[in-house]
Amino acid sequence: MASLKTHNCNKCDYSFVGSGKPDALMRGPTIPVVCLKCSEIYDRIIHSPIGEKLKGKCEECGSKKYTEWDYKLKKCPQCEDGIIVESDWGVSIMAD
Ligand SMILES: [Zn+2]
Ligand SMILES: [Zn+2]
Repeated sequence: MASLKTHNCNKCDYSFVGSGKPDALMRGPTIPVVCLKCSEIYDRIIHSPIGEKLKGKCEECGSKKYTEWDYKLKKCPQCEDGIIVESDWGVSIMAD
């Protein structure tokens, strides 16, 4: 069980809903990654426990190219020096 939170940039309008850190969903462990095409952060399954072929891709643009998002630095992928913060008031969705 993972809890997805709204994350907002403190400098621009960017926000995403996701775990924002390495986590585990029912389908396998995930890490937060940044899409190289549209700079969207999303949780990507990195390993399937049942050996399923992974077809992770960006939900925004469908690109399979990504880079790991540094969840400790929390830099915004969409502006110069924004920092991504977990929203206090945002949606919290329980996902499995
Ligand atoms: Zn930003
Ligand atoms: Zn994308």
